[in-house]
Amino acid sequence: MSAPEGVREGFDIFAGTIAEMTWQEVDHAAKDGAVLLWAFGVIEQHGPHLPTGTDVYLPQARLRGVRKVLADRGVRALIVPPYYWGVNQTSGSFPASYHVRPEITKELMSDVFRNFEKDGFRHVFCFSGHGEAAHNRTIHEGVRLGASRTSLQISFVADAALASRVGISLSDPHLALPPDDVAADAPASGVRFFQAGATPASPGAPERAPRYVDVHAGRGESSQMLASCTGLVRDDLRRRLPSTDLGTEELAVWRRGLDDARRTTPLGYLGDPASANADEGRASLERLARRAADAVIARLAAPDVTTESIP
Ligand SMILES: [Zn+2]
Repeated sequence: MSAPEGVREGFDIFAGTIAEMTWQEVDHAAKDGAVLLWAFGVIEQHGPHLPTGTDVYLPQARLRGVRKVLADRGVRALIVPPYYWGVNQTSGSFPASYHVRPEITKELMSDVFRNFEKDGFRHVFCFSGHGEAAHNRTIHEGVRLGASRTSLQISFVADAALASRVGISLSDPHLALPPDDVAADAPASGVRFFQAGATPASPGAPERAPRYVDVHAGRGESSQMLASCTGLVRDDLRRRLPSTDLGTEELAVWRRGLDDARRTTPLGYLGDPASANADEGRASLERLARRAADAVIARLAAPDVTTESIP
């Protein structure tokens, strides 16, 4: 019997995570002072050319990079199996895009944090694989809730552009920012964050909103998928997709989600997938991993945070 259409094998979101270790190996790592890295994605449509798990595969690829950079700097880290039932209204009108209420996600996070505490870990670093504001606010609130119910040091690793866009104070003690962002006085616009594939503006260049945005299943994400999960990209299709050429005004409508998003991008992508390439994706993944590792190291050097209890 053959597999249903579209089913492909060989990409393992558990690769390199606790799920592939034995309990004794995890126990030793905890006693050895390892920190935990945990990504929060969603299962969500990503256009005709990328799989619905893109926001899970990509942060996992990035975390493997983070772990390597940390190891080179003497910090041992384990990767937690990814969380993928996230908060997702943007693509909610498309099939295969799943939404879970924020309170469910927060309570689940809190329960899992308790397990990490029981196992003797001290530091947990959480990451987002999905740009939606409500999803990222939920991760941040879940981090605070977990910190209030355990003795763990828990941080949300995000860049300043994302934190500003979703309304998290840059001085929040549970936010771990790359030191560059702290120094540079964060950009107010959140456009840059999800243009991960774009060339970063040269230092000192004025920050201008780009004419066309590439935020979802476009050049940025397609490049990173080509670099990390090539076999999951429907490449013949990708090469034929026209650029959406939408600007920040249409992006604002798209971000309202559900039917507004589906009307704005009937095929589900927002950006220019045809211009994607694996080299750019590799460079983006490496840059993001370095920045995240910098944020982790800065947080580990900072004093402990005490969190008041949240009911
Ligand atoms: Zn995505």
